[in-house]
Amino acid sequence: MKQFLAKSSVALFVTCMFSATALLASEPGQDEPHWGYEGVAGPEKWGSLKSGHKVCGEGERQSPIDIKPSQAVQGKTLDDIFVHYTDAPLNIVNNGHTIQVNSDGHSKAVIGGKEFSLVQFHFHEGSEHTVDGKRHPMELHLVHQSEVGELAVIGVFMDIGEPNEAIKTIFDNMPTQAGEQKIDDSIKINATDLLPDRRGYYHYLGSLTTPPCTQIVEWYVMKEPITISEAQHEQYRKLYKGTYRPTQELGKRKLLHK
Ligand SMILES: [Zn+2]
Repeated sequence: MKQFLAKSSVALFVTCMFSATALLASEPGQDEPHWGYEGVAGPEKWGSLKSGHKVCGEGERQSPIDIKPSQAVQGKTLDDIFVHYTDAPLNIVNNGHTIQVNSDGHSKAVIGGKEFSLVQFHFHEGSEHTVDGKRHPMELHLVHQSEVGELAVIGVFMDIGEPNEAIKTIFDNMPTQAGEQKIDDSIKINATDLLPDRRGYYHYLGSLTTPPCTQIVEWYVMKEPITISEAQHEQYRKLYKGTYRPTQELGKRKLLHK
């Protein structure tokens, strides 16, 4: 089955399917202010675009951050991440800010000892987290929600190197217009193919990295990157470039690692 849906039906579909998808996709509707990554609606202005977005400017638990490995504390009680991701039919949205792949609800993960469902994953051009100030070419965010609504996001840096087959499937099917969605049951995606072999991570408590910047995210940023080819990076950059929020102060928060 192949479908190309109009903008309004994408928003409706996403909202009905997953509350977290609606929250995180931030598809601008009629009552949502426009936001972007530069200019008058850029990250410095997000906190003043709408009263509900104040935490973008004033919050003390914001994301992303610059990760300083020398300051990360070994988390002796941190659990391994266990993923049980399954093959899911391709369901991909261009939401005007990113390319987002929606899960079918069957992919699970145990993160921090709690069970989560994979809701969606999406990309940032220019990584959002940096390591000792270094920005990676891209970053993947795998967004998970627990039964009671907690959010855990696994961040994966994407460096230039060997091409990634799963990325090829996704990037070759990216809708080019904002608001466009593509569903194709004959194409399967398994998010396991987007994780590095070693699953060591940095962990801290943070926020959504897009408005409304809600401070409800347990972040798990993988130490080991995955790789994509230069051509795959360019393929994404034809749609989105520089889609990262500047790093925020760690402040009083602890950065742990495993
Ligand atoms: Zn993200």
